[in-house]
Amino acid sequence: MATRKQTARKKSVGKKAARNNSGPALGAHESIAGGVFNAIVRGEQATCDTIQMFNKSNAQWKAKVLTTEEIDRYFEMIERTGITVACSHSSYLINLASPDKALNKKSYLALKEEVERCNLLKVPNLVFHPGAHVGAGEDEGIATIAENINRILGGVKDNGVTLCLETTAGQGSTIGHTFEQLADIIDRVDDKDHVGVCLDTCHIFAAGYPITEPNDYRKTMKSFDTVIGLDRLKVIHLNDSKKEFGSRRDRHEHIGEGMIGIGAFKNIVNDRKLRKVPMVIETPKGDDLAEDIANLRTLRSLIT
Ligand SMILES: [Zn+2]
Ligand SMILES: [Zn+2]
Repeated sequence: MATRKQTARKKSVGKKAARNNSGPALGAHESIAGGVFNAIVRGEQATCDTIQMFNKSNAQWKAKVLTTEEIDRYFEMIERTGITVACSHSSYLINLASPDKALNKKSYLALKEEVERCNLLKVPNLVFHPGAHVGAGEDEGIATIAENINRILGGVKDNGVTLCLETTAGQGSTIGHTFEQLADIIDRVDDKDHVGVCLDTCHIFAAGYPITEPNDYRKTMKSFDTVIGLDRLKVIHLNDSKKEFGSRRDRHEHIGEGMIGIGAFKNIVNDRKLRKVPMVIETPKGDDLAEDIANLRTLRSLIT
């Protein structure tokens, strides 16, 4: 029984995380420059248990075909390192809420293609920003997002990927800065087994959810659980914030060096209810990944 449990844990969170059985799987967003396998190579350099990556160039609509060789090298790297891929992050160009018909269709097709690529790479979660209604109104935006999710999930065969709505800071007309908005979208999705949420600490703090003091943190998570449900939480983005509480501005800062402060991260990495939720940083960094290593060391030092 114990052996089976151990095997299951190794499979689900990777070898490194299995060695450290007292905290969640921690990692970072890593670049796929040079091929998707490179995200794993960089993840290993950066001491990640798990990573987030793009599945294509995030600034372009067009996706380069994944070659068999590229995919084989990617799975080899995963097997060799034991690093898991927590999620892929979709292109920033996509806006499922767009009132512009052409852009809306382009967005729907692009996200559908990303779901297919994630299936090919066996990535369990695809994180995306719900969208911006650009003046059409919140209700209209929410309805359009849900319609597009339904079309995507209804159109992908043998889908193993969960579409994860990311909490947003609420900049401009973006939707997803309240838990209620996300719950509203999820309510309208038919295939509820393939819809989840990615919580970003920088975004919810900027949107007005306090998480630094233990009491505030508990209240915010209680609210998440009541409104959305903790079972929907598939991925967490750990980022400190350059901007102040409630600013509705999205600017990431190194862990513990921003306006959120180290307390929030201590609350999260020690939250027993989140033990199985992979957590990745999206903090500023250079080519040598030294900042990722430092931020992950900080996070691991908080686990009690
Ligand atoms: Zn994020
Ligand atoms: Zn952000």
